[in-house]
Amino acid sequence: MKKTTIRTLFVLAVVLMSSGCRQKTPKQKSSRPNILYIMADDHTSQAWGIYGGILKDHVHAPNIKRLAEEGMVLDNVFCTNSICVPSRATIITGQFSNKNGVYTLADALSPDSMNIAKILHNAGYHTAIIGKWHLRKEPSGFDYYNVLHRQGRYWDPIFKTKDNFHKPLEAWDVHKGFSTDVIAGLAINWLDTIDRSKPFLLMTHFKASHEPFDYPKRYKDLYQGIDLPEPENLYDFSAATTGRTFIGQQLENLGWRYKQASDAPDKWWCKYPGMPFYTTGLDSIAARKKIYQKFVKDFLRSGAGIDDNIGKLLDYLDKAGLAENTVVIYTADQGYFLGEHGFFDKRLIYEESLRMPFVIRYPKEIPAGKRLDDIILNVDFAPLFADYAGVEPPSSMQGRSFRQNLMGKTPPDWRKTAYYRYWQHYPIRPAHFGIRNDRYKLIFFYGRPLDMTDVSKETTEPAWEFYDLKKDPHEDHNAYNDPEYADIIKQMKKELNRQRALYGDTDENYPEMKEIFEKYWN
Ligand code: CA
Repeated sequence: MKKTTIRTLFVLAVVLMSSGCRQKTPKQKSSRPNILYIMADDHTSQAWGIYGGILKDHVHAPNIKRLAEEGMVLDNVFCTNSICVPSRATIITGQFSNKNGVYTLADALSPDSMNIAKILHNAGYHTAIIGKWHLRKEPSGFDYYNVLHRQGRYWDPIFKTKDNFHKPLEAWDVHKGFSTDVIAGLAINWLDTIDRSKPFLLMTHFKASHEPFDYPKRYKDLYQGIDLPEPENLYDFSAATTGRTFIGQQLENLGWRYKQASDAPDKWWCKYPGMPFYTTGLDSIAARKKIYQKFVKDFLRSGAGIDDNIGKLLDYLDKAGLAENTVVIYTADQGYFLGEHGFFDKRLIYEESLRMPFVIRYPKEIPAGKRLDDIILNVDFAPLFADYAGVEPPSSMQGRSFRQNLMGKTPPDWRKTAYYRYWQHYPIRPAHFGIRNDRYKLIFFYGRPLDMTDVSKETTEPAWEFYDLKKDPHEDHNAYNDPEYADIIKQMKKELNRQRALYGDTDENYPEMKEIFEKYWN
């Protein structure tokens, strides 16, 4: 037999053996995708461009657009408690606040808690988190972490690692530069060091575009000399306008913060760019207009600094040959008001705050350039990661993998309703829970602090709100008392009860809630 024939037969035998192996173990470890999860802080959908809206032509986000063209944009991903710390806890535990115990900004996630990093680590993944952590206690389940101290600052941020997490401040690492650039740089460094025979989960969490909405110097002239468009309900000045019962976090409060930071820069908790800033002598309309323009320009500049760092990460995946086998996600921990209702900040179940913008790219499975309108919650992220890693998520996770949805095969029994609860009660934004389906939203503001941390003890009168999002997408009219919706509201109250039972969030431990339900739940 000729040498070449022998070699051919040998190669053929190897191919047959290896394909036989593949049939026996269809989920070989090497075929499991890497997961690059990129999350910003408060970078709301109105500031992404790909979600439309009044700012879409002004947003500088070529890399988000690229991800949207190469992957899928999700239109109805919702937060289950729209505030930083609880949302982050929900994302990594796959559990609602009432289950993971992280209800408010003052709560911490126990390192002993079950989380997705532990699950993927045990399944053979490299696991890392870089950037904003915010869950107070030491991160667990991550082989590597390099996380901002608390909230983190924009310039020369301070980071903590396994080597110095429990050491005093002097032992922590200051990284020179702008936070978003530093975090992306650290993420790329880590990707460069790991052994490629194992897949990775890398959570890259930017501080931007959180207050004080700072940006890298390269964007200081963006929007110079122009006025950005205003939301139609920017000049909503009181609860009476819409039928709300609370005033909300109005832009004047941000104006007041700007003034404090201008008057005594060293005493204020953060450093806003472009100080000093005053609205002295302006009437209420002119003052709100001026605050809005500064705030939203800064916010979009901060977002532009995220976008070019997403670009750096995508370029790295391309150069390293990792793009095909890596699931890339970009999202934000919740939404944010950019002047809608005259508000800034988040916390409320209203659309701008509730929606988590979300884009995902995985060329092997997810069709390019499509959108998905299924209702996905942040409890579903951890089960999705487990699914990609070929692991059954623990039954204590309350979400469900949406991998099939992303492939255009939404399971027939997929949820039709999102459940939401905000616990951190203050009279300007009372504690509430509610549900949203593809058209309607029903909210119950129960207005009680219960036994939560960092809340106001001043209660508010319980109140219902209802919105028809088809007729009133900006939620300008509380239609709870409109007779045409009486039957729908009745059905939705039943559904609200069903959802609360489903997630074990029934307030059984709070006798005062029982009294409120008896009085207000008709
Ligand atoms: Ca946040």
